[in-house]
Amino acid sequence: MQLPIDFQPGWAPADIEDASAHRFLFLQGALVVLRDGDGARLPDAAYRDLPIGVLHSVGVLDGRACHMAELSDAELPEGLEAVPLRQLFNRLPEALLAVAGRAQQLLDFARSHRFCGACGHANELFDEGRARRCPACGQVAYPRLAPAMMALIKRDGPNGRELLLAHGARFPGVIYSALAGFVEPSESVEDCLHREVFEEVGLRVKNLRYFGSQCWPFPHSLMIAFVADWASGEIVADPAEILDAAWFHIDALPPLPHQITIARRLINATIAEVAPDHPALSVYGAG
Ligand SMILES: [Zn+2]
Repeated sequence: MQLPIDFQPGWAPADIEDASAHRFLFLQGALVVLRDGDGARLPDAAYRDLPIGVLHSVGVLDGRACHMAELSDAELPEGLEAVPLRQLFNRLPEALLAVAGRAQQLLDFARSHRFCGACGHANELFDEGRARRCPACGQVAYPRLAPAMMALIKRDGPNGRELLLAHGARFPGVIYSALAGFVEPSESVEDCLHREVFEEVGLRVKNLRYFGSQCWPFPHSLMIAFVADWASGEIVADPAEILDAAWFHIDALPPLPHQITIARRLINATIAEVAPDHPALSVYGAG
């Protein structure tokens, strides 16, 4: 879910006559796509008669405007289907998925900020459409982002590199991943990492190294990922959060997250540090 570097964000009302625009249409929270073999395409201008409410721009991708709207009617014409974004990971190009994630977050913001949270008055558009402002009390709201840390803990034992991977209570399927948790008020991301690691698996870590970040629009996380070295402690998993957590040697990894996730990129990069030609990278990289 990575926006291309030349993507230009936008918020303004859009021109419905722009036939070249990418059209991100949502129906009950799912993206409307056109079936295309095993893949999917965005609906084009041929579907201009769909009951689009208010059309907004979310930006410009490769010189083409990106429009978003919510459909008010549940009847889709033949060939179109409404699919949750998570189910489009292998079906839409990543750049379009990332813009769809942005559109979904902005629609969610518009839906949940129609009224002022302080006094209940109807909000109006503010700051060229990117925010909402209450004309009665002046309260301003911008789209909410929830920063979260991700930590891949590693240790190098006599048999080679081991990664601490956990199967979270909220994970789909049986995948194992790095630890993650939301930043609390007053915390730095690093404070959060140390707290969450100790709460979830009872370990202390050291040598935090920033890896990268990723927007994760389910619904509005910003995942900030680190590699850390094990410092002390034995694994004691918090059963409320973690169903299973263990050290896995890089030659014997469990099912891993999808390659589009920053968790998977973090895991692959940490394996590649010590085993750049390790067969696990290509085998698991296909997922
Ligand atoms: Zn107000």
